[in-house]
Amino acid sequence: MTTPQKTSPIYVTQPLLPPLEEFIPYLQSIWDSKWLTNNGPFHQQLEQALCDYLGVRHVALFTSGTVALITATQVLRITGEVITTPYSFVATAHSLLWNGIKPVFADIDPITLNIDPDKIEAAITPQTTAIMPVHCYGHPCDVDRIEKIADNYGLKVIYDAAHAFGVQDHRGSILNHGDLSVLSFHATKVFNTFEGGAIICHDAKTKQRIDHLKNFGFVDEVTVVAPGINGKMSEVNAAFGLLQLKGIDEALQNRRAVDARYRTGLARIRGIRCLPDAGEKMANYAYFPILIQPDYPLSRDALYQHLQDNGIYARRYFHPLISDFPMYRGMSSAAHSNLPVARKAASEVICLPIYPTISNEQIDCILDIIAGETGA
Ligand SMILES: *Cc1c(COP(=O)(O)O)cnc(C)c1O
Repeated sequence: MTTPQKTSPIYVTQPLLPPLEEFIPYLQSIWDSKWLTNNGPFHQQLEQALCDYLGVRHVALFTSGTVALITATQVLRITGEVITTPYSFVATAHSLLWNGIKPVFADIDPITLNIDPDKIEAAITPQTTAIMPVHCYGHPCDVDRIEKIADNYGLKVIYDAAHAFGVQDHRGSILNHGDLSVLSFHATKVFNTFEGGAIICHDAKTKQRIDHLKNFGFVDEVTVVAPGINGKMSEVNAAFGLLQLKGIDEALQNRRAVDARYRTGLARIRGIRCLPDAGEKMANYAYFPILIQPDYPLSRDALYQHLQDNGIYARRYFHPLISDFPMYRGMSSAAHSNLPVARKAASEVICLPIYPTISNEQIDCILDIIAGETGA
């Protein structure tokens, strides 16, 4: 059995960083133009480049995914109650509460761990105005059933697509579903601009409204049409995004190879369940979640600790559930009896390290640590 070097911890992810010297010309250009933010040339170029790369009509860049989510809710003038998943990063529900909207938690599907359309329908009340599903780990939600429910009940749909950069279904980008989709470009995500995010929309009028809202509500020098926010991405972040986009296909290929190596290695270990492989186009291999089953010799938390003791910093995404945090746990939809599938997943999951530069030796070392406990 290989033992990792204590001196080189392996974290759950590592940001994609192109060579520094390749970034210098971009910085030089910003210094020369002195155009630092407010829809500068790199901001404009990155919006266009992402439209082309992702296969979507409009991209509005933001300072973060969270500010983009908060703004998306304002764009559609959402009020009342919004049905969402408890099995996500806390920003999903926070973006609703921050807008004075009540999140209503619906349970998830046991196979995909995405929000269960049947449970959405059961959670609808006269106050419901929208659905905020998450493409968890980059695996597409059941977009067709969600669209049908939304159409039947006259609800808006905002996808938290923070994990879903580059994910496609058989009709093209997964981001083309719903009224709006929101991406995160945080350092930990598949594509990053240090901090950043975007709203994807499908028509020019909505794009214009988003652009107004992310710039304080200004439409010209003297006219303010809405209580907007400052959500504008700076030129430095946008330039970094342009540079990073050049290497994104290679990065996604590398992630795919890591995923395949884990799957092969884990197949021989009893008590470890992987999520189904969504397939090359459907997945971006943003995360590698495993579910620890009762016939594995260690508890989930014991394995998590054991990995850490060996310098492997895996993460329990998503534990605790959002609905267990103090500002949500008193809500009736947060009751344990309402969310049995999400609770079970949150108690079983560990996300293993996955990023383009992780080596085969590092992956095998992680597999050996997990397998060692079974005597395999
Ligand atoms: C990362 C993430 C966010 C927040 O994005 P930021 O860019 O960090 O603000 C929102 N939702 C989900 C599901 C995320 O993983």
